[in-house]
Amino acid sequence: MILMQSFNVHYFDGKSSSPKNVTLELHDNFIHITKLNLSYEFRDIKIRAKLKNTPQTVSFADGSYCELEASDFFSLPNSREDKFILKIESKIKYAFMSFIVLVLFVAFYLTYGSAMLANILSPQIPKNIVENISKQTLEFLDEHYMSESKLDKKRQDAIQKQFDKFLNENSDFKLHFRASEFFGANAFALPNGDIVLFDDLIELEEDAEFRGIIGILAHEKGHVVYMHGLKLLIKSSVSSALIGYLLGDFSGLVTAFSTALIDAKYSRENENAADSYAIESMKHNNISTKYVTNMFTAIVKNNDLQDKTDYKTREYSILDSHPLIFERIEKFRKNGE
Ligand SMILES: [Zn+2]
Repeated sequence: MILMQSFNVHYFDGKSSSPKNVTLELHDNFIHITKLNLSYEFRDIKIRAKLKNTPQTVSFADGSYCELEASDFFSLPNSREDKFILKIESKIKYAFMSFIVLVLFVAFYLTYGSAMLANILSPQIPKNIVENISKQTLEFLDEHYMSESKLDKKRQDAIQKQFDKFLNENSDFKLHFRASEFFGANAFALPNGDIVLFDDLIELEEDAEFRGIIGILAHEKGHVVYMHGLKLLIKSSVSSALIGYLLGDFSGLVTAFSTALIDAKYSRENENAADSYAIESMKHNNISTKYVTNMFTAIVKNNDLQDKTDYKTREYSILDSHPLIFERIEKFRKNGE
């Protein structure tokens, strides 16, 4: 007979409603109620586990029961009711913990995880899927934002010739000439290596050998080589799929894809990497980077950019995704010396 714990309780005999203040002694295999000198074996006892601020009640086989103080509680070894309640409680705990884990996961994904996932997944995407995505995007843009180039065939051929020379028989990149009021003086690359070059940009080129254009195409080629577009696509698609899943709305997923490419706002690091790629490959081809500096300066002039903060005059200018144009001009200028 070992006394484990004792509690001050209100004892109700089950007949009268007035409680008696007694002490409940918890022994190793029975409960003893002092003053009344009552003993109950564990198998004659039912315990309702304490939930929140309700007092715990202990009922006995003879219909009497005790109420513990709000701050007290205990459990009996092998009590079925107790285990059941504990199970529910641990289930609630489990659900709550799962929720916390989910929230942490989503927060992690939307901050660092998406970039990690994009880095891992983008090289794994099969070529035919990349091809399909790019083809459909080009078709979509052709339908909505672009029209046929008005550039004369001779100039197109001259640029193509320079680009072929620059590519040195690498057939992974294909040049497309287009006109677009929406894109203006611009160029962009699709993940499959299709590079779209706009008339307005070519208009700004003053070099007869189109070396500024080649520099910009080299920059776009850098985006393809580093899979920036594909990574952006994965990031935005999975993010909107995830948000869609959480909010139960998947319409975002459908638009995420084309928006990601049209609205391609690469990070500063991506732009920097593509610029470095362009500078390196220009050096390799013995083309001075000063032609890109000239090109950028012409774009700045064309956009009437007076000072270093005023670079957002046009909604979809080449400068938009390249916010630090003056820093970039400086980078190409330095490398052209
Ligand atoms: Zn870029």
